Amino acid sequence: MADSTTNVPPPPHTLFDTILVLDFGSQYTHLITRRLRELSIYSEMLPCTQKISELSFKPKGIILSGGPYSVYWDDAPHVDPAVFELGVPILGICYGLQEIAWHSDQKNVVAGEKREYGHAILNVHKHTGKTAHVDALFAGLEEDMDVWMSHGDKLSQRPAGFVTVAASENAPFAGIAHEEKEWFGIQFHPEVTHTKKGTPLIKNFAANICGAKQDWTMDAFVGKEIDRIRALVGPKGQVIGAVSGGVDSTVAAKLMHEAIGDRFHAIMVDNGVLRLNEAKQVKETLTAGLGINLTVIDASDRFLDLLAGVKDDPEKKRKIIGNTFIEIFQEKAKEIAAAAKGSANEGEIEWLLQGTLYPDVIESISFKGPSATIKTHHNVGGLLEGMHLKLIEPLRELFKDEVRALGTQLGIPEDLVWRHPFPGPGLAIRIIGEVTRDQVRIAQQADFIFIDEIKKAGYYKQISQAYAALLPVKAVGVMGDKRVHAQVIALRAVETTDFMTADVFDFPTKFLSKVSTRIVNEVDGVCRVLYEVTSKPPGTIEME
Ligand code: GLN
Repeated sequence: MADSTTNVPPPPHTLFDTILVLDFGSQYTHLITRRLRELSIYSEMLPCTQKISELSFKPKGIILSGGPYSVYWDDAPHVDPAVFELGVPILGICYGLQEIAWHSDQKNVVAGEKREYGHAILNVHKHTGKTAHVDALFAGLEEDMDVWMSHGDKLSQRPAGFVTVAASENAPFAGIAHEEKEWFGIQFHPEVTHTKKGTPLIKNFAANICGAKQDWTMDAFVGKEIDRIRALVGPKGQVIGAVSGGVDSTVAAKLMHEAIGDRFHAIMVDNGVLRLNEAKQVKETLTAGLGINLTVIDASDRFLDLLAGVKDDPEKKRKIIGNTFIEIFQEKAKEIAAAAKGSANEGEIEWLLQGTLYPDVIESISFKGPSATIKTHHNVGGLLEGMHLKLIEPLRELFKDEVRALGTQLGIPEDLVWRHPFPGPGLAIRIIGEVTRDQVRIAQQADFIFIDEIKKAGYYKQISQAYAALLPVKAVGVMGDKRVHAQVIALRAVETTDFMTADVFDFPTKFLSKVSTRIVNEVDGVCRVLYEVTSKPPGTIEME
């Protein structure tokens, strides 16, 4: 096995100016990182417990996030004091502000008489003379700012060596800055969109105060990542990976193809519960269009036979599909590995491609308090067991919007780059009750019509996810003067930014009637169409 770790180009935090976000467990921490990336400034998040001596790069600046604790609790989390010795600018947000104040004197933070949630008006204080430089954080922003707060604790006094840069009615020290060092603290959350001028403030800190270059673009990333993949895999090494036709796996596969050509082997498993003509289309796009070395395995019968008779247990459907997928993938991987071994200039398959994105990484490293256990990554486990492969994750530093930009950069067609997510268990969890071949046909045809109409009407990009589900009930209808007794389709379309919460998409009734008419006319076995109007929560985006 080639030693693939020598001469591997370093990861982005070494190549790009990086703002390090230390996480105290706020539900908004990842948004700080996102806002920075939107400003083309590279940023990574690490838990607040990160030891500075173990950091493999030197950040241009540090942001301390919010968090659910009170700094004065005995078991409250605190940063490594070396953070304050690093000599780089620091911005504390909410708990982060309180941490900065507490670090200077533990008497500085107390429980407020009033909690403050929601909008607040912030008065920005201007300075002259020797402290004029502290105005850099609010430079160019209005003196009365509309900000968003979420705190119960407050600073009881201004820490020694600090000046006040902003105040609100409830928080007299809503913004502080050190007179000499570039340390700033703000009580409000600039990372949430409710704070109107939050992004310009983050830019003031990162670009102007820290001096971080705004050079993080997919154009700059792609070449470096291809070099990294080549160095990691070596001149002969081979990689195998599953593709689904979704944006993440396609972008990851195309990147691998650019880096190592046909030494990347993509496998697509047709599990019989894909969308209409999906396997065929994915094959065309990936092979003819993008040049990826792809094998499609039609295993629909194997999946559908196993799913027969499973009625009331959605988890069982998911398990059957997940486990069978792993079995088939491994069988095929062994075949490809055996075939690849003999060829003259190719080495063994040593790597498994995984389309992990930065939100998955954040989820597994975010600070969850002293008692929390670290969650293992849900996709990886099953495939790695029994296959002696190393993981390669070329998208693990990227957010979804960056993956899309990278996809466009790599020449992946627009409709694929903007494709809605599709669940691994496919239509099986959109067909409530038993999954039979005929139920799959109905669900596929109805879904096709719905999406087709959405695209024609120009709604596709506004909607985050849309599909037609098939309900296991029959209703009475009248078609061509004849009484019919047929099934019911439920349409679902949601808008969301993070898939954690979702709103129902507000279609005009005319549009829904048109879709209904087409489905009832064109799909045999359906006589009614409903529109599902449950938000998330309490509903989930998928039905099962
Ligand atoms: N727990 C702290 C408070 O209530 C910090 C809250 C926060 O960071 N959002 O003030």
